[in-house]
Amino acid sequence: MYDIIIIGGGAAGLSAAIYAGRSGMKTLVMEGTSYGGQMNYTYEVDNYPGVNDNPSGAELSERMKKHAEKFDIEFTTETAKNILGINDRIKTVETRKNNYHTKCIIFATGASPRKLGVEGEDRFYGVGVSYCAACDGAFFKGQDVAVVGGGNTAFEDALYLARFAKSVTLIHRRDKFRAAATLVEKAKENNKISFVLDSEVSKIEGDTTVSNIQTTNKKTGKKTDIPVSGVFVAVGIIPKSEFAGKYVELDENGFIKTNNKMETNITAMYAAGDVRNTPLRQIVTSAADGAVAATSAINYING
Ligand code: NAP
Repeated sequence: MYDIIIIGGGAAGLSAAIYAGRSGMKTLVMEGTSYGGQMNYTYEVDNYPGVNDNPSGAELSERMKKHAEKFDIEFTTETAKNILGINDRIKTVETRKNNYHTKCIIFATGASPRKLGVEGEDRFYGVGVSYCAACDGAFFKGQDVAVVGGGNTAFEDALYLARFAKSVTLIHRRDKFRAAATLVEKAKENNKISFVLDSEVSKIEGDTTVSNIQTTNKKTGKKTDIPVSGVFVAVGIIPKSEFAGKYVELDENGFIKTNNKMETNITAMYAAGDVRNTPLRQIVTSAADGAVAATSAINYING
């Protein structure tokens, strides 16, 4: 019997584990295939307070896991398939092999990149289409690449890729950006980065790898070919809430609804990190959510 089962081993889940473990809670983290979540796709972390040696996201997640292990947290790579007795004091998390009993559950299942949904996107995934500049950017040294999106991720990706690539074309469907003004300024000052605005990618083309993308200007309808060998898609994220959504309430975009104690609409079920409705999705906010969720669970258990 566990006090707390944490589903998800990214920043939110590992932070929750540290708080739970320090309070002596018997805790199991179901981390899926690997821990770290989206952190693993971050090339360099430079906005986590106190961590100013610019580790990669993978290294920071390794440090977080080691930190959690100090407190005798148990980890499993099993996947939660079902939860029984959600309104009972003891709930059961079923995996393919085991049944785990617990007093509390924290959903920290994160999010994943949104796709464009255009011709060629799936076909060229891994051979020119990428959702992770930090992971794949270095493969495009000296080549022409495109980034799609107008948010912080798209701009950070464009700036990062400009270090290796010959040119970076940022394609955005409007002429206003969601990205922070400082990032936009930096990108505008970078002579490797150019902009194609008010335009959508209509198809991604090539033979065995990407060689061209076709854009369509939304105002004029004009189609333009941009010869590139890489397309980095950075058009936002979608929550991994399909499992949690069978038990707790989601918002209209599929994120888990919580209050500021990370409580869902079901007693002793909490959510933390990118999977919940939150205005900012960063490592620091996920870690903070995990701390709050674990503390709420601890308070519930201690009555
Ligand atoms: P985002 O802020 O939601 O931006 C997504 C961008 O993609 C928007 O410009 C959006 O256009 C565009 N878009 C969405 N769907 C599209 C589609 N189907 N086709 C073409 N374009 C599409 O996503 P994000 O940049 O991944 O950032 C996610 C969160 O992480 C944000 O809260 C962001 O601030 C945060 N973040 C922060 C940092 C940092 O602080 N260092 C770094 C990365 C991310 P519209 O503008 O027209 O909607």
